[in-house]
Amino acid sequence: MTKLVKKSDIKDLNFDQLIAWLEEHGIQPYRAKQIFKWVHKGKADSFDSMTNIKKDFRHLLSTHFIIHRPLTKKVETSTDGSRKYLFELSDGKHVESVWIPEKTRSTLCISSQIGCAHGCAFCLTGAAGFIRNLTIGEIISQVIEVERDQQNKKRLTNIVLMGMGEPLANYNNVINAINMLTNTEYGLGYSGRKITLSTAGIVPKLNQLSKDTDASLAVSLNATDNHTRNELMPINRTYPIEKLLEACRIEYILIKGINDSDANAKRLSELLKPIKAKVNIIPFNEYPGSDFKRPDESRINQFRDILVKNNYTVITRYSKGQDISAACGQLSVKI
Ligand code: SF4
Repeated sequence: MTKLVKKSDIKDLNFDQLIAWLEEHGIQPYRAKQIFKWVHKGKADSFDSMTNIKKDFRHLLSTHFIIHRPLTKKVETSTDGSRKYLFELSDGKHVESVWIPEKTRSTLCISSQIGCAHGCAFCLTGAAGFIRNLTIGEIISQVIEVERDQQNKKRLTNIVLMGMGEPLANYNNVINAINMLTNTEYGLGYSGRKITLSTAGIVPKLNQLSKDTDASLAVSLNATDNHTRNELMPINRTYPIEKLLEACRIEYILIKGINDSDANAKRLSELLKPIKAKVNIIPFNEYPGSDFKRPDESRINQFRDILVKNNYTVITRYSKGQDISAACGQLSVKI
């Protein structure tokens, strides 16, 4: 009887793992670049299309690996042009990504986990709990599939890991995926500066991060005292605010009556003094059933002005795609 071997997605290997596999099979390591060039840069979806690789070698590859493409189950387009993708993975689980067109660029917000274990009070993804980490291939495939989509009139220029999941809780797969997305020889060739990893702040991994990737970092702060942050983001009980503040860019979700007062803005200015951080303030995106509310415009502006007066560079980020629940903190798979 033939033994059935479950084939893995070749995109789940990093470069060194592919070389090790090739050597194990007596094949020259230089083939690794050739194969990855087809799979990543060339978006090949079969080994047969790899015309500069001999037939028997292609056959060997196809007996061990597949080139998996997630199924695009649904694409919803917002009135502001953003598009939310629902992808079905090989085990039938689902993940979401959001493409956001702007004047001079377009950004894709991708997921790194299915669900999330961190349970931030304002986040719909966290409410569903943690299901599993995405593989390297599943992270990269979100970018490949959106790049393929001819309906997106603008070329993809920026990637943010701000979708479902805490990227630093899936550290190795996220780093391997970013390294492949930034590789110019055989990967997709994005500049590290155009990729932003957003984290709730797993401090030991933050320290490691700059050694492993040149992607930009955005820390989701969202409170100016540990008491409020403990309530909003349970991870703060393990890694409190003081430990976080070495990060260079701070995100702050403004929630009405919770963290949006003048006193909060002044305390934030004080807290950030030692690191001269840039601050992104993101007015909270309400969703059905949420206990939190978005502050009104004048409160948002007042909060921003206090930071500006204290010499901070502040950007107010208004999330797009709210009508299709594609804005920050609203991703939770609905089929
Ligand atoms: S905000 Fe990020 S870390 Fe917190 S629950 Fe949501 S996905 Fe997880």
